[in-house]
Amino acid sequence: MRSTMMDAPLQVSRILEHGSTVHGSAEVVTWTGGEPRRMTYAQVGREAARLAHALRDGLGVTGDQRVATFMWNNNEHLVAYFAVPAMGAVLHTLNLRLFPDQVAYIANHAEDRVVLVDSTLVPLFAAVLPKLTTVEHVVLVGDGDPAPLRDATAGRVAVHHWDELLRDRPESYDWPEVDERDAAALCYTSGTTGHPKGVAYSHRSIYLHSLQICTAEGFGLGPTDRELAIVPMFHAMSWGLPYASFLSGASLIMPDRFLQAAPVAAMIAALRPTLAGAVPAIWNDLLGYLDANPTDVSSLREAIVGGSTCPPALMHAFAERHGIDVIHAWGMTEMSPLGSVARPPAGATGEAAWAYRYTQGRIPAGVTARIVGPDGTPMPADGRSVGELEVRGPWVTARYVGDDTPDPEKFRDGWLRTGDVGTLSPDGFITLTDRAKDVIKSGGEWISSVELENALMAHPAVLEACVVGVPDDRWDERPLATVVLREGATATAEELRDFLAGSVARWQLPERWAFVDAVPRTSVGKFDKKVVRARYAEGALA
Ligand code: ADP
Repeated sequence: MRSTMMDAPLQVSRILEHGSTVHGSAEVVTWTGGEPRRMTYAQVGREAARLAHALRDGLGVTGDQRVATFMWNNNEHLVAYFAVPAMGAVLHTLNLRLFPDQVAYIANHAEDRVVLVDSTLVPLFAAVLPKLTTVEHVVLVGDGDPAPLRDATAGRVAVHHWDELLRDRPESYDWPEVDERDAAALCYTSGTTGHPKGVAYSHRSIYLHSLQICTAEGFGLGPTDRELAIVPMFHAMSWGLPYASFLSGASLIMPDRFLQAAPVAAMIAALRPTLAGAVPAIWNDLLGYLDANPTDVSSLREAIVGGSTCPPALMHAFAERHGIDVIHAWGMTEMSPLGSVARPPAGATGEAAWAYRYTQGRIPAGVTARIVGPDGTPMPADGRSVGELEVRGPWVTARYVGDDTPDPEKFRDGWLRTGDVGTLSPDGFITLTDRAKDVIKSGGEWISSVELENALMAHPAVLEACVVGVPDDRWDERPLATVVLREGATATAEELRDFLAGSVARWQLPERWAFVDAVPRTSVGKFDKKVVRARYAEGALA
């Protein structure tokens, strides 16, 4: 029997229409260092219509052409997030922290035709532009001198100003009905191994993923929330916060390029967010800053932390010193990105509740997960069997852009191979011990680099600790601990080894140590273990 239900497509324009009317008085606020720039969601709706007209009538964007952004998190980026997919084109968020060659590879692969560029990023983008083969138009956002862009291509690419391009365009747009399975947005993985790979989100996947973000088991967003979106809009769609905010009526606070601890603390005090999302490194910096510079951060009820493992010590510090719940979440660009959120189940209190919060979290109905052994054989979800995590679901990609068939390295029998190693409990909680490529294989046994890092970061003198496997004649691999000490603190390798011995098996204790000023990071703020291993091989960390 067929249902009697209407077949209304799940599309981004619907999220825009809803947010800009029903939640028209909610606002997006961009930090500037001076007076913040504010726009209501009703204004975002009108500006999105003007941008869509400008792209279609001014620049001739049609069909599923790609419109890229090279922008910080700000009001105009939010407008583009809606205008481009709503008009039926494909939004492509370029990661501005990659090397020019990588950005160019990605933009050429995606066949971007237009790029919107923040004027503060002109010098960076001028280095990319000559390498771009498909871009015809650049739109400069904000006041800035376009000359370096014109010079970079000897006039081959037309350079426009956002304000001029949008001037006198109509404030409403007849958004087309799209096939909900068509691409709405494109995002590339940061390519820790090999070339970056593209993931094309559909209107449908964005809609369903946004609904999940709004649920109480997700981020619990509602109209009284103000969400500080620190996680970049060029990294996994800012975890879906922009779209989820329009669905739920939560207001958005955008940090633009001000991502250091001092301005982040200032924007929390001034703009009073109730929630914020960022990778552990940002929260760690903020914690250190708040210790030295007491600031009113009492508006925050939750800090969402994901992208890499959140050390338990960081969770406890925020809870005890600032009354803020750090909520651990896990995901991947390939998963839109939300995979799981660590909220304890009913009845768990005290230590039991903490144990749940240390995990990567519980999978929602939209994500099916399993653990498999090295040959792909499924293992029990018993919270003990350790293997690779595989997932599938309506907001999980089935292949990469440009591939006719799924790459067997990353996909198996309709499942995405996450490359993450850990356990799955019967009640759906994921606990990751490592990325498969970072597990330390010592004498036939596995050592979790993450477990050692978490244990080390609980030492009061340690600001950051990154552990990698390095070659060893006798054991194949052994752990190398690279440690950043807190300012003014001291600790020797022996002291830290003794400290670790309290919680880690003796045979896992590192015998190689390096004290460094900073751990190298990837373009999205994770420990760059590839670089740490390379530095060790060069003798730079002996
Ligand atoms: P990249 O692969 O370039 O780092 P992603 O941001 O998509 O780009 O990274 C996804 C990966 O990040 C996951 O597969 C996992 O290894 C790691 N990750 C994300 N969140 C967490 C978390 N809470 N704990 C541990 N690892 C995480």
